Amino acid sequence: MCYNVNMIAKVIVDIGNSEVDKVFDYLIPESMQVSIGAFVRVPFGHRTIEGFVIDICENSDYDIDKLKPIQSLIFDNPIIKPELIQLMSYMTEHYHLRKVDVLRLFLPSELRNGKVKAKYISIIEVKDYEALSEAITKVRSNAKNMIALMEYMLDVKSEELTNLADKFGYANINKLINQGLLIKYENRDLRTPNSEVKLTEGVKLNELQLKAVDCINNTKGGTVLLFGVTGSGKTEVYMNAIKQVLLQGKTAIMLVPEIGLTPQVASNFKNKFGDLVAIMHSGLSAGERYDEWEKLLNGEAKIVVGARSAIFAPLDNIGLIVIDEEHDSSYVSDSNPRYNTIEVAQARARYNNCPLVLGSATPSIESFYKAQIGEYKLFEMPVRANRQALPKMTIVDMYQGLFMGDYGSISSTLQSKLSQVIKDKKQALIFINRRGFASFKRCVNCGFVPTCSDCDVALVYHKEDNQLKCHFCDKRYKVITKCPQCGGEVFREGATGTQKVVDELRRLFPDVPIFRMDNDTTKTKDAHHKILSEFANSYPAILVGTQMIAKGHDFPFITLVGIVDADLALHQADYRATERCYQLVTQVAGRAGRGEYTGEVVLQTYSARHYVYTYASSYDYVGFYKKEIALRKTTHFPPFATIIRVLFSGDVLSDIMTELKAVHDKILLIKDRYPNDFIFFKAVACPVKKIKTKLRYQILMRLVGNEDIIIPLIYDAVNIANTKKVNVFVELNPQNLS
Ligand code: ADP
Ligand code: ZN
Repeated sequence: MCYNVNMIAKVIVDIGNSEVDKVFDYLIPESMQVSIGAFVRVPFGHRTIEGFVIDICENSDYDIDKLKPIQSLIFDNPIIKPELIQLMSYMTEHYHLRKVDVLRLFLPSELRNGKVKAKYISIIEVKDYEALSEAITKVRSNAKNMIALMEYMLDVKSEELTNLADKFGYANINKLINQGLLIKYENRDLRTPNSEVKLTEGVKLNELQLKAVDCINNTKGGTVLLFGVTGSGKTEVYMNAIKQVLLQGKTAIMLVPEIGLTPQVASNFKNKFGDLVAIMHSGLSAGERYDEWEKLLNGEAKIVVGARSAIFAPLDNIGLIVIDEEHDSSYVSDSNPRYNTIEVAQARARYNNCPLVLGSATPSIESFYKAQIGEYKLFEMPVRANRQALPKMTIVDMYQGLFMGDYGSISSTLQSKLSQVIKDKKQALIFINRRGFASFKRCVNCGFVPTCSDCDVALVYHKEDNQLKCHFCDKRYKVITKCPQCGGEVFREGATGTQKVVDELRRLFPDVPIFRMDNDTTKTKDAHHKILSEFANSYPAILVGTQMIAKGHDFPFITLVGIVDADLALHQADYRATERCYQLVTQVAGRAGRGEYTGEVVLQTYSARHYVYTYASSYDYVGFYKKEIALRKTTHFPPFATIIRVLFSGDVLSDIMTELKAVHDKILLIKDRYPNDFIFFKAVACPVKKIKTKLRYQILMRLVGNEDIIIPLIYDAVNIANTKKVNVFVELNPQNLS
C-alpha cells in the first residue's frame, strides 16, 4: 500500500573492497520517483549504504514481504544514464569485471561516500495510509492542529517538510513520524542549467582539413582512422567536426593521452567553445572534477575534453567521439578495472550511432591493420598544415662516438647543432626517456645492483636529493658507498637520466636557460604550466624532458630536437617494443619545425642500423607497418592472435601457488577441448616478480581462433579462484607485460 507493489529496484551496493558483486532487491516507496540509474541510500545489514539502481522490475527472486524499502534518493534525477548501464553490462561481460567497479568509473569519487555537500530538501510522506486513516479517528477532538495535519497528509500524501512545518509545526510532524505513520526522505535540490551554443571562428581550414571534416561528419557510424603526420592540423579537424555536431544539437567526447592534455590543448578548446567545454584530467582537485562532471550531467557542458576516463562522461545524444594519439598506451587501463578505451568508445559510438575518430601520426599496428582490411575508414593527411617539410633526421651512431673519444651523453653532432640554435636565438628540445640522474649504481667488483625491497626493480640515482629511488613505488634509499655483497667501494653509473643531461648541458652552455620537465619537476599542481610558459618566453632556451614533452606541445620556435636515448624503448622484451620506439621517435621529432622555421632532429643510438630507426628517420610509417605486420603474422601476435594473461598477486607465495594451480588445471581442460586454438599456454612468474610488496605470477596464453567461445570459458575458470588472499585478474592484449 505504501510501496509500489510489483515495483522492485535492483540495486548494486557501493561497498569498498568487498567481494560482493550481487544485485540486491529493494522496495520502492510509492511517492519516491525512482528511475533506473538513481543513486540511493538503502538499509544494508545494520547500517545504511549508498547504491545504484540498475533496473526496475515486477518480481523478485526473494520473498517480497522480507524486502526492505529504499531509504532515500540521494539525487532527484538518475545520475547514471541508461546508456551507461548498458555499457556496464558490456564491460562486465567483456572484461570480466565486477559491476560496482565499472559503475565507479562513471562517477567522480567525491560523489560517493556522502562527500558531496549538496543542497537537500526533506520530503514528508504518508507511510501507511490505512493506519493513518484509522489513527485520525482516535485523536482527541480538541487537538485541532494535529487533525488538520493528518487530514492534509491523507489528502496530499507527500509534501516538502519546510512547507508542512510552516502550516502545522515540527512537533506534530515528528510525533507522526515516530508513530510510523509518516516518513521522511531527503531529495536533492538541483539547480537549473542554462546553456547556449556560442562559437567563435578559428583558423581557416585548408582543403585537406575540410575534406577530413566532411569525411568524419558524413560517417554515420563506425570508426575513422585519421592518419595525419605531426603538425598536419588534426586538432583543427577535430574542433571543426565537433562544431558541426554541436550545431545538430548533439554532444562530443574528445580524448587525449593524460600527458598530452597540455594547457595549450585545453585552451584551444576553451577559446573555441567557451563554457560548453568541460575539462577532465588528473590535475584537477576533487571538487573541480565533480563540478565538471555535473556540468556534463545536467547538460550545461556539451563537450568533454579529457584523458581516458572521460570516455565515461554522462553525455546524452553523442554525435562524435575522438581519440587523439590513439596508439598511446595510456588508453589501456592496466589496473583494476582493466579495459580498452577504444573498445569502450566503439560501444558508445554504436549505441549513439555516431562515428568514432582515431587520430595519429603513428597508428597502432592493430588499428592500421583494421584500416587495411576495411574495418575502419582511412583518411590520410600526409603534409603539415604549414606546408613545411617534416624535420630532417640525422642518426648519430654512439658507438662511433666512443671510438672518437666522445664519452658524454651529448654527441659532438648534437653539440654543434645546439650551438647554432643558440646563435640563432631559437629553441631546442632534448628528449631522454628516463628521469633521475642515472639508472643504477653497479658495484664494479661484483656487479651488485641495489634494488627496492618492495619491488623487483633496480633503483635509480637522483643526484639532486642524493638518494636512490624506486620508480615503481617511490620508496627512497640512502646512496650506498660500500657494496653489501663484496665490500667494494667503486660504483659505476648506468644509463643516463634527465638530471645528468641537464648537468652536461649546463657545463656546455652555461649562459643558456635550461628547463627540465619530468615527474620530479612537475609534482606540484602548476609546475607543468609554469615550466612550459617560462620556456615559451625564452630565446634561446633548451627544454630537457621525458615522454612528457613528446606529445601535444606546439612551440613554433623549436628548430632542433635531440633524442639522447630512445634505445631503452627498443630493448624491452615485449612484442610491441619496436612499435613503441617508432611512435616515440616520430612523436618527439614532430615537435620540431612546427612554426615558420625549418626544424631538424638528431637521433643518438647504439643500434644505428635497426630498421625502426631507418623507417622512422624517413617518416616511412607504411614501410615500417609492412615489416611489422609480416613479423606479427609469422610469429602469431596481435592482430593475428589474442594475448590473454591471468595475473595473480598476493602476499604469500603458497596461497598464490594454490590458486594458480587450480585455475591452470581448469584452463588446461579448455585447452584440451580446443587444442588448435591455443598457440601458447604457460604459468610463470611475472618479469617483475614483486611490486609494492605483492608477489606476482601469471598464466600466459595466446589464442588464434574461437576467442568468442574460449574467453568466456577462461573467465569461468578464473571464477573458481579464492580471491580473499590472492588478487586474480584477466587481461586481454595487455599493453604492459611486466
Ligand atoms: P597535429 O595535431 O596534427 O600534430 P596541430 O593540430 O597541432 O597538428 O596543428 C599544427 C599547427 O598547425 C598548429 O600550430 C596549428 O595552429 C596550425 N594549423 C592547423 N591548421 C591550420 C590552418 N588551416 N592554417 C594555418 N595553420 C594551421
Ligand atoms: Zn619499490
